[in-house]
Amino acid sequence: MLKGTGVSKGIGIGHTKVLKNEEVKLTDFKVDNRENELEFFKKCLNDVIDDTKKVTEKLSGTESDIMNAYLMILQDPTLTSEAERLIKEEGYNAGYATKVGFETVEEVFKNMDDEYMSARASDIQDIKQKVLNKIVNKAELDLSNLPENTILVSEDLSTSDTAKLNLKSIAGIIIEKGSENSHVSIMARTHEIPAIVGAKNIVKKLTNDEYIAMNGSTGEIFENPTQEEIDNLTKIQKDLKTEKENLSKFIKRKSITKDGYKTEVVANIGTPKDMDAVIANGAEGVGLFRSEFLYMDSDSMPTEDQQFEAYKEVLERAEGKRVIVRTLDIGGDKDLKYMNLDKEDNPFLGYRAIRICLREPEIFKVQLRALLRASVYGKLAIMLPMISSIDEIRDAKKIIEEVKEELKAKKIKFDKNVKVGIMIEIPSAAIMAEELAKECDFFSIGTNDLIQYTVAVERGNEKISDLYTKFHPAVIRLVKMAIDGAHKSKIFCGMCGEAAADERYIPILVGLGLDEFSMNPTKMLSARKMIRSLNHKECKKLAQEVLKMSSAKEIKARLEEYKNSL
Ligand code: PEP
Ligand code: MG
Repeated sequence: MLKGTGVSKGIGIGHTKVLKNEEVKLTDFKVDNRENELEFFKKCLNDVIDDTKKVTEKLSGTESDIMNAYLMILQDPTLTSEAERLIKEEGYNAGYATKVGFETVEEVFKNMDDEYMSARASDIQDIKQKVLNKIVNKAELDLSNLPENTILVSEDLSTSDTAKLNLKSIAGIIIEKGSENSHVSIMARTHEIPAIVGAKNIVKKLTNDEYIAMNGSTGEIFENPTQEEIDNLTKIQKDLKTEKENLSKFIKRKSITKDGYKTEVVANIGTPKDMDAVIANGAEGVGLFRSEFLYMDSDSMPTEDQQFEAYKEVLERAEGKRVIVRTLDIGGDKDLKYMNLDKEDNPFLGYRAIRICLREPEIFKVQLRALLRASVYGKLAIMLPMISSIDEIRDAKKIIEEVKEELKAKKIKFDKNVKVGIMIEIPSAAIMAEELAKECDFFSIGTNDLIQYTVAVERGNEKISDLYTKFHPAVIRLVKMAIDGAHKSKIFCGMCGEAAADERYIPILVGLGLDEFSMNPTKMLSARKMIRSLNHKECKKLAQEVLKMSSAKEIKARLEEYKNSL
């Protein structure tokens, strides 16, 4: 049996769609359905037109004139007539037709005597490349037309690819790379899609349209499952459903321990559509809105208005509960193709998140304006990612104040009490927590990154994933420093890394005094159930005991034992 690591529980049964990098070839082949292929070609061309229009709108003067001329070529029917003919009359695939069709036009332009016109050949070449990029991307990743119950099999799924998926038809995800904390795993858990990562060579082993089953807890993959296997898996599926129904009684309950220690269980989200799950699972607020998903879900920078609408929707749906929106956290494993960020040898240590926002304040200010404008629709808090020093907080707050002044001057309303907090996800921030707490309104500990930076293990690297552990005593000590630092300044300290939802970890977090647990909406009810079963005084003792331990293995074993004793 094939196997990987289960990272999102649930049973998937269906047919595979294997995404192979080499699958899309720009060679000629004939298609069965010419109409569909022509539609596909036109869709790709229109996407390029839309992208170009968006870019052009922002320009002025000569630049705008140049782009408008480019747009005219792009929309001229003579540009596409040969490509369309190749598809319609000869049945070629869109990629080949684009290449050959556009090159024919390019040749005509090149041979023109008029210097200006012959120079336009390079525009056509450029357009051709853009359309081909769309074709290749779409053919690989436009999964909107997949049949129901598709199990997606891929070497990897980048965060931006993940953001574009149409999840409704997906019964499961299996990937070769990744880990529990890759963004694809986080997304799968939010949407309750069974997922397996680290399935070695799976892309080679499986072919398209194979009937398979998978278990997102155990990581098992069943090729051509027998009836007995299907029966077993269906039974597990039913049990999971019953478990979910039993948890529903915690939807309206408080997140409070048996001896009265109050906490909050709130949600991590990536897009406004995640609010369905947030509401269905009784969140006490949103502890982390990963705003970068808005950027990754788009082919160009989302405008201020687009962002405003998204934040407003989330704030309104939260009905007065606190919504913490994290400002753009791009870089590292989260790429934004249209930003054309330079390739770096160590992207996790490089140009990312707040570092970009402070160096490119025009990008930051668009987001801050959108956030502040939306703040009148609910209880907004702004969170700054990847803070490594006090100066970054000061610089960011200065920009926030500038934006507030601009809005005031324009008489645009915003909530003057919007809180500003920071992620504690870099060891230097945890170590300096006491000082940083004086400069902000709250902390949220991002263990996903804090672990990788503390133990120097990349979060998505499956080869060394055994070393990437929240049970490392250094990580636990940094968590304690962050919580204590926050409490000294009487600000709250939450946690929005995946560790906040781990039932082995929750008791020690309660013992250390964590105020807010932010997690995938689907995990909130079991976390709340667990918190309600705990005794704060006992958890404090447990925390004291664990803080004296020095081996991650022993700490893990002790916390597992404690959980099982409950
Ligand atoms: C974290 O690092 O723990 C975190 C919540 O942020 P992200 O996973 O988006 O990097
Ligand atoms: Mg992070």
